[in-house]
Amino acid sequence: MKKILIVVDMQNDFVTGSLGSPQAQAIVPAVKEKIDAYRKARGMIVFTRDTHQDNYLDTQEGKFLPVEHCKEGTEGHKIIDELDPAGCAIIDKPAFGSLTLMDHIREIIDKNDEIELCGLCSDICVVSNALILKAQFPETSVTVDAKCCAGVTEESHKAALLTMKMCQVNIINGE
Ligand SMILES: [Zn+2]
Repeated sequence: MKKILIVVDMQNDFVTGSLGSPQAQAIVPAVKEKIDAYRKARGMIVFTRDTHQDNYLDTQEGKFLPVEHCKEGTEGHKIIDELDPAGCAIIDKPAFGSLTLMDHIREIIDKNDEIELCGLCSDICVVSNALILKAQFPETSVTVDAKCCAGVTEESHKAALLTMKMCQVNIINGE
């Protein structure tokens, strides 16, 4: 049995950039600690990156949220300096949930493996991918560490944790 950690969208624009927040900055040490623990335990670590192009404002996401972010090739798109994705797979994704991520997980997962997610934002990309994982791998344990996630607001963060809990995602370090 091995453990697979998915680090969702820990990119400059979501931490200190155009969509950054104190809540996102606050989880950085805990996420770093978790990644270090997985490295020590020889777990597998997969990073995702929200990835947009010049046409962002014309996309559906851009119409709902007209704040440019995570444009491919910019500083904002990069994983934050505090985290080191060396040796890990990086999946760029144009949408909240990623079927490319699911394809990648299918290639590396074995029976009885466990998956954990952390990162940003709990109420958008973490919940999207957690629920797709439950659909793709119904016999796999999926865990989310509440202390290693942050939402757009505290209220929507808690709502996402509750939604995931109802869908049988293991929520750890929640209240
Ligand atoms: Zn985006």
